[in-house]
Amino acid sequence: MSAQPTQTEQPATNYSFDESEFWRTISAWRDVDADTFGDFRWQQQNSVTSVPAIQEVLQDLATPSLIADIEAGLLKTPMNVRLTPYVFSLINWEDAAADPVRRQFLPLGSEFMPDHPHAMDDPIAEEGHKATPFLTHRYPDKALFLPITLCPVYCSFCTRSRVVGGSTAVKSKSTYGAKSSEWDATFEYIRNSPQLEDIVISGGDSLLLRPGQIRQIGITLLNIPTVRRIRFATKGVAIMPMKFTSDTEWMDALTEVCELGQARMKEVALHTHFNTELEITAWTASAMKSLSATGVRVRNQSVLIHGVNDSFDHMRRTTKKLSSLLIQPYYLYLHDMVPSCEHLRTTVRVAENLSQRIQGSTAGFNTPRVVCDAPGGGGKREISSYTLYDQEIGVSAWTSPTAKPGEIFYYYDPIHQLSNEGRTLWTNEPEINRRLAKFKAEATAKAEATRF
Ligand code: SF4
Repeated sequence: MSAQPTQTEQPATNYSFDESEFWRTISAWRDVDADTFGDFRWQQQNSVTSVPAIQEVLQDLATPSLIADIEAGLLKTPMNVRLTPYVFSLINWEDAAADPVRRQFLPLGSEFMPDHPHAMDDPIAEEGHKATPFLTHRYPDKALFLPITLCPVYCSFCTRSRVVGGSTAVKSKSTYGAKSSEWDATFEYIRNSPQLEDIVISGGDSLLLRPGQIRQIGITLLNIPTVRRIRFATKGVAIMPMKFTSDTEWMDALTEVCELGQARMKEVALHTHFNTELEITAWTASAMKSLSATGVRVRNQSVLIHGVNDSFDHMRRTTKKLSSLLIQPYYLYLHDMVPSCEHLRTTVRVAENLSQRIQGSTAGFNTPRVVCDAPGGGGKREISSYTLYDQEIGVSAWTSPTAKPGEIFYYYDPIHQLSNEGRTLWTNEPEINRRLAKFKAEATAKAEATRF
């Protein structure tokens, strides 16, 4: 078990992190002590996964109108409900509707907006690039290994909402747990593809891989001579930091993989996923102290979410706090065009403004790259590198000369964030089709003219 870290035990930084027993504001956990709260098993066993569980845990804070709104949200979302007690108790339940943490994990029926006509189930074209049932090979030297589709929390904005977690009222899925016996063909493919230097192990979430599976994947991949870098993707540091201080078996496995990486002079990284500074507490500092001892490099990938982190001040504070704990801000993604997320998306213009302001606010290596993962498989493109952008109708065109030469990819801003004129155009089908056709013709001409 792991005791609540105190300020004196935290790494010395310019920031102080919440070391209060904040979970005790939740009725059901009023008597839970820090040792219990700091045990990953208790976090897993007490994760909140249904509306009755929310009512039971919140008691008086669960007002009838809030519960009705959550129930309505669950009829519209493709994602299951699962929140760890850690993340559940970071929510300000007195004003749950406005809370940025709640907004990420527990959608309200009143928030939803109609999907954009160009929303896509698989916006970054992972299914079309499957080399094996568990491996997406989309870029020349990098591949994405998806050994598991389960997560310790479920995010409303998940880009893999088509496969991650179980079925919901609006989405049926054939999800899978991690079955080591089925991975041989994937390892074989990587072994036979010497151009693959980078392997991302994602899902789902690597946090739910068993220690033996962390070893199996890490050691097998590091023993392939041509693989130079591996990264385990997990949201764990943001939503269950006590995993890294209380699951010694899992940490032993990670340490072993890191040591092998050091011996082979190969990088072992952990890519995590904080979206707001509200997720950073003394527990995070403690987790990072423990992770730092393994030698693993930790980077952060955020998603730009309307009402959560789409302001410069918020993003700057989040970035600086993460950096102070050796979590390197790496990417800030424009929200992918997945269904049921229109209320969470932002425009290219908002992302571009944020990118302009965040550059220069801290050291370059701690400045996240703001990118659009070009819909249809164009890959990550710098936010200001579009070929053409029509802000009135909210469409931008992107090329990817190295990964996908000759192709053009289109991203569509959320309609509700356009000007009155832009919104009106989207209600007039012949007119919007005419504008889009003109835009695409201009983008094609410009891409041709600037091809290199
Ligand atoms: S943790 Fe990652 S994979 Fe899991 S639901 Fe959230 S965004 Fe999706």
